Amino acid sequence: MINQRFVLANLKIFLLFFTKTFPTIIIYQYNRILPAMPSKLSQEIKSIPKIGPAYQARLKHLGIETVKDLLYHFPARYEDFSVQIPIADLKVDETACVQGIVESVKMVRVWKRHLTITEIVISDSTGKIKALWFNQPYLAGTFKKGLAVCLAGKLVEKKSSRYLSNPMYEKVNDGPDSEIDLTHTGRLVPIYPQTAGLSSRWLRYVIKPLLAGYSGLRDPLPDATVSAYEFMPWGEAIRQIHFPESLNTVKAARKRFAFEELFFIQLSVLQERIRLNNEQAEAITMDLPLIQDFTKTLPFSLTEAQRISSYRILKDMEKNRPMNRLLQGDVGSGKTIVAMMAALNAAKTGYQTAFMAPTEILATQHYENFIKLLKPFGIEIGILCSKHTAVSSFGQVSKSTVLELAKIGKIGILIGTNALIQKGVAFKKLAFVILDEQHRFGVEQRAALAKNNQTRKREKFTPHLLSMTATPIPRSLALTIYGDLDLTLLDEMPKGRKRIETKIVKPDDRAAAYEFIRREIKNGRQAFIVCPRIDTDEEEKRDAILFDPKADYSGAEAVKAVKEEYDKLSKKIFPDLRIGMLHGKMKAAEKQEIMEKFKAGIIDLLVSTSVIEVGIDVPNATIMAIEGSHKFGLAQLHQFRGRVGRGEHQSYCLLFSDYPTRRLSALLRHDNGFELAEKDLEIRGPGEVFGSQQWGMPDLAMASLADVFLVEKSRNAAKGILARDPTLENHPLLLERVKQLKQRTHLE
Ligand code: ADP
Ligand code: MG
Repeated sequence: MINQRFVLANLKIFLLFFTKTFPTIIIYQYNRILPAMPSKLSQEIKSIPKIGPAYQARLKHLGIETVKDLLYHFPARYEDFSVQIPIADLKVDETACVQGIVESVKMVRVWKRHLTITEIVISDSTGKIKALWFNQPYLAGTFKKGLAVCLAGKLVEKKSSRYLSNPMYEKVNDGPDSEIDLTHTGRLVPIYPQTAGLSSRWLRYVIKPLLAGYSGLRDPLPDATVSAYEFMPWGEAIRQIHFPESLNTVKAARKRFAFEELFFIQLSVLQERIRLNNEQAEAITMDLPLIQDFTKTLPFSLTEAQRISSYRILKDMEKNRPMNRLLQGDVGSGKTIVAMMAALNAAKTGYQTAFMAPTEILATQHYENFIKLLKPFGIEIGILCSKHTAVSSFGQVSKSTVLELAKIGKIGILIGTNALIQKGVAFKKLAFVILDEQHRFGVEQRAALAKNNQTRKREKFTPHLLSMTATPIPRSLALTIYGDLDLTLLDEMPKGRKRIETKIVKPDDRAAAYEFIRREIKNGRQAFIVCPRIDTDEEEKRDAILFDPKADYSGAEAVKAVKEEYDKLSKKIFPDLRIGMLHGKMKAAEKQEIMEKFKAGIIDLLVSTSVIEVGIDVPNATIMAIEGSHKFGLAQLHQFRGRVGRGEHQSYCLLFSDYPTRRLSALLRHDNGFELAEKDLEIRGPGEVFGSQQWGMPDLAMASLADVFLVEKSRNAAKGILARDPTLENHPLLLERVKQLKQRTHLE
């Protein structure tokens, strides 16, 4: 079952139509009879009388600005206080709910411990019980002798005194009406995600009365969809998710909201796909003899997976509608060659290719690799980074020269960092865009590059897009986030790769590990040592960057750690070896120089931050040692490990750690990134692994990705609607939602 803490509730993408003023009209007419009314759900929270400026600010901090945001702030879990028991039946260490009359109220101050204790005693026909609250002195004024109250909490026993400790409490107004509607006790009580300054009690207090007013709202999902999948209607679901009748109704409500989120994401990506299919692209004919020539010049033969996927890509690019393809392949599976063939084919047919990599180091590596392997074909290749600007036939040239050559169409393949999408970059005939390890921004980057296309000014040609990633994304997530992409899987490693031996190195084994590294290096091999950041909220930051390779991993702390490690290694441990240092704060030229020296074998051991995570290819390096390895995520560790084992020599991954974790042992057992991703999901759950925010995706949707059926259902429902109404002109409510969703994702 999905852990409920993933139901964190900053669910941002919803809007609904309703009116607070005429709820009855809506109840009778909400089936499309009313024209779309200005949504009151979009009303700001300050319009709710109970919410003053202080609370407005706290809510805003959570991203809650409208009534809608507040209603979609879902509980993280529920306390079951639905059964009230007689006081005599209370048991020590058990949580329960009792009702009784207040017998006495007193407040005690314990000065030494800076403590105020509010103590009341309540009684029912079976007995009496004490209840204590700590440091909530205002409570003394809440309870009066003779008042009927409900208390829910845990009975504790200390020094032979029994009391309910900090119970939830509620006055019971037992008037003539026997139906008592309790909010904080006597039911399944919603507990909201923990936030400073916003108690669950307060949230229950504001949300509950809102629900009554909104239950007649128009359902944002089409009626046909709701009935086809037998979903709980919106009004019912919003009530049940906050104040459920049973855990079953919670489940049904959650499922419905998860579907709703997925459905709108699907609508949005599928619409994007339809839009793209209507766009024009250059049809690039596949030059089979050229491709055959190329593969003959390679020092290895292609894997079957490389053959199949490059054929598919080349065939796709023959069409006059833009390709939109994600090439997924584990670290070292040889994605670059596949991209290179397509770029070669485009260049030889007279078109330009832009190839964008996340870091300058990586762009440089691709540039050198392209020059080397494409030499026989006489294509001008350029590189454009913030510092490194060069073209293959002249070497280092000025930035303006590169720009000019690209603009007049002399450069066939332009490789670079995001400098490629900056102002002033123009192409004559750009027809193909490759993005390496940048899956997240694909569509926008292509759009940015396409704008710089100077071809036949009037007509709009969208370049074909190939994104490449080693991030193993489960199919359900891929379908959701990349619903507009075709997926190609490179599921085979080049032949002859040896298994990388992976070991956890505990503190006692450190000396032996260093000795081992020295031996390997003396045998002519090279090694990496990676240092983690050492700041305290590092976990958080790491998660935030895990799937955004563009992020600068090298915080000041990591740089410090690297410098210290470098000093230690070069002075004390390996004074006899040639050691280099690499981190993100170094100048581009310095970084490049170090990488070149390492590649050329002039440096034996490279101490680095995680900047080397993505893509670096040095076949002679056989050792990847990772300091504080428990501090990295599985995907990242797997990426590091993928930096070695690229040549003919046996390679090793040494995981230095004082705290061997499940994650680390998973790494010992699995070589395959996709298997590891599954393990990671199992250990941490989808919300943590993929960090909802990174994908601009609500947590509930994220948590539901494990439910492949639900994802498929949402996709089918969205497809069904778009098949009949591709522009959604007959579904104004849906269109509005999709627009808002797009806006949100673009702002992230
Ligand atoms: P990734 O998929 O991680 O980007 P690369 O494209 O960098 O992997 O390839 C990793 C290494 O494997 C490179 O040195 C590349 O030249 C080499 N390689 C690629 N394809 C093959 C193959 N079919 N046989 C042997 N080596 C290959
Ligand atoms: Mg790569």
